[in-house]
Amino acid sequence: MNKILALIFLTLVIGTSCKRVPLTGRRQAAFIPSATMQSMAYSQYGQFMQQNKVVSNTPDAQMVQRVGQKVSQSVEAYLKSKNLSDRTKGFKWEFKLVESPQVNAWCMPGGKVAFYTGILPFSKNESGMAAIMGHEVAHAIAKHGNERMTQALGIQLGAAAGAAALSVNNPQQVNTFNQLAGYGGQLGILAFSRKHELEADRMGMIFMAKAGYHPKEAIEVWKRMAAKGGAKPPEFLSTHPHESTRIAHLEKYMKEALVFYRPR
Ligand SMILES: [Zn+2]
Repeated sequence: MNKILALIFLTLVIGTSCKRVPLTGRRQAAFIPSATMQSMAYSQYGQFMQQNKVVSNTPDAQMVQRVGQKVSQSVEAYLKSKNLSDRTKGFKWEFKLVESPQVNAWCMPGGKVAFYTGILPFSKNESGMAAIMGHEVAHAIAKHGNERMTQALGIQLGAAAGAAALSVNNPQQVNTFNQLAGYGGQLGILAFSRKHELEADRMGMIFMAKAGYHPKEAIEVWKRMAAKGGAKPPEFLSTHPHESTRIAHLEKYMKEALVFYRPR
């Protein structure tokens, strides 16, 4: 009897959670309820912004806001057109610029974005910022953090009463979340797999294009990063594909992104 119940439970979990990533159609196992991911993200984001210096009312900070709004609107419009609006259910978009020499940017589950001032020389212009924004937002839309966390907690998840066992108040889970979601601050914990990175690149170009930014700037951004050499930004550490692989991949998907490009 217990086996039957377990089977029913598993079927339910897999049936409702094994969804496909928008745009790429890749099947994924992301079992953590979005609401749980989001509430962990919201509390971590709040903490992070308290501990760091937020830049506001400068042209750069305004650009982060503007680009974030345009890209998130294009994401929402895209998802709506595909009947996939549930992907951003519960999202509370926020776009902040943080004073830090680190070359970094990220988007937490639920649409909480941070750009570090250290990345500005590489984004260089508004389209470059849109390329990075598109990439980071794509990680959240594709639920890459959820997928990684599902992997890491897989055994416990199957054994316990399921996803309900996850809690914002469980320090171990919050810790796992931070590590996998890649917001480990200075540590620059390797957050996403190469597969996730390339997927975010492909989706990000479409999101920026739909927001009115020419997707070719994505390639320029990676060229600038490559030219810098040396230390890579934490979000872009060694799991990130080599620049030449990445640029070849971006060129391959340029045509797809250009279909969405509408200059504004
Ligand atoms: Zn990435």
